[in-house]
Amino acid sequence: MAHFISGEIAPRKAERFGAVYNPASGKQTAKLQFASAGVVNEAVAAAKAAFKDWSATAPHMRARVLFRFRDLVEKNADRLAALINLEHGKVLSDARGEVIRGLEVVEFACGIPQLLKGEYSETVGRGVESVAIRQPLGVVAGITPFNFPAMVPMWMFPVALATGNTFVCKVSEKVPSTINALAQLLSEAGLPPGVFNVVHGDKEAVDALIDHPDIQAISFVGSTPIAESIYTRGSARGMRVQALGGAKNHMLVMPDADIDQAVDALMGAAYGSAGERCMAISVAVPVGEKTADALVDRLVPRVRSLKVGSGLDADDEMGALVTREHRDKVRSYIDLGVKEGASLLVDGRDIRLQGYEDGFFLGGSLFDHVKDDMRIYKEEIFGPVLSIVRKNTFDDALDLINRHEFGNGTSIFTRDGDTAQAFLSQVQAGMVGVNVPIPVPMAFHSFGGWKRSLFGDHHVHGPEGVRFYTKLKTGTVRWPTGIRKGAEFVMPTLG
Ligand code: NAD
Repeated sequence: MAHFISGEIAPRKAERFGAVYNPASGKQTAKLQFASAGVVNEAVAAAKAAFKDWSATAPHMRARVLFRFRDLVEKNADRLAALINLEHGKVLSDARGEVIRGLEVVEFACGIPQLLKGEYSETVGRGVESVAIRQPLGVVAGITPFNFPAMVPMWMFPVALATGNTFVCKVSEKVPSTINALAQLLSEAGLPPGVFNVVHGDKEAVDALIDHPDIQAISFVGSTPIAESIYTRGSARGMRVQALGGAKNHMLVMPDADIDQAVDALMGAAYGSAGERCMAISVAVPVGEKTADALVDRLVPRVRSLKVGSGLDADDEMGALVTREHRDKVRSYIDLGVKEGASLLVDGRDIRLQGYEDGFFLGGSLFDHVKDDMRIYKEEIFGPVLSIVRKNTFDDALDLINRHEFGNGTSIFTRDGDTAQAFLSQVQAGMVGVNVPIPVPMAFHSFGGWKRSLFGDHHVHGPEGVRFYTKLKTGTVRWPTGIRKGAEFVMPTLG
């Protein structure tokens, strides 16, 4: 499998390759060419050459391309979902869901003529006016993680393209097919060659992008150590960087919450997509022993009966993990939790699925009596493992969340408006749900965490996305006096 440069699939000589797997069968499905710095340079050059015309194209004309792309993505949603399932392992309905969430960003970007309307002040001095306009940056790059092969790139490129930039995308080498399919749909929608390019690879390609003098901005989504290093390295060069990192999302359950509703919410939020979501809930914080006991009583049978499968069966609730290495890492965290003294109420380590013996599966796991000094609490596991940390009061629970190094998303389940309001106002996280377990903002709002879940000043998509991908120019204009002072009716002559 190859890159996508200048409007077409672009196989290039490669010295290094990656193996792509079907997580359910455990079998290799593709051999992926890894881009060298030379291939990255070629893609950036194509994007740079395309920038002049694309940035000069009227916003409503750019939007028309996105309108056509929107329809093509909708028509191809099932095909895209199948590709996501094949390489990521998440169940088909969830894969389709991420395509639709990505589509919503395209729909937002279709409104770009309205979003790019500038500001104007008429009389800032006698005969002087001010204008404020937003202009594209140039060539921008997106680097994305394995867990959303369609949605996370679509958080970025629709807004970047709509605002007049050209784009080079480097998705996770574990899930390369979906972005190539999206690139082909962009071409089919009429996007000129070079405006959107894909390079595949790993650190070498990423380094070449960060160090490239023609890249003006980088949007990164992935784990915190890489996010931080990309932010530090890119911004030291004066590049604009938004780098979204890891998470440990807590759900606070108050004694007055509807426990059945909270359990339903936790099942989807902790185990959906095998916990491989940056907005997954990985810590439940019941307030009071009675709340904790009620939660545990209802959760245990539900976690035990989770339907794990290839994701192709409509009844499957959870698929495989993305790679064998990642599955083994998550499993080692379960071993660690036992060693650290947490109570393992449901153990998903030894699942065997008939016909999928080599797949990268884990069942759902549930820990109770997790303490805040345990590594299974402090670190991001990114798998189907839910920890219960019991607290006695709202203040203690809030303090626990606020002390955590990550601050991506969080939620509270309560029937009390005052408690919900206090939580919304005081919790240190970028996205907050009230009786909503995964508060992912809609495309016309912006997505992003706080603390070590995001490095940079801008969240993604929505109004923040438009600001990130444009620079502000303010003009102060005095028009010369002209024809009103006296018209010339004689043919002007030189000399
Ligand atoms: P990752 O950090 O391993 O990889 C992300 C991207 O960086 C990939 O394209 C990868 O090829 C590249 N990369 C990997 N190692 C690199 C290195 N040493 N130098 C330069 N580039 C490198 O992340 P992942 O495992 O693909 O994704 C899971 C992580 O992403 C989790 O931590 C999850 O929380 C996070 N995530 C965060 C959000 C968010 O919105 N905050 C959304 C989705 C995923």
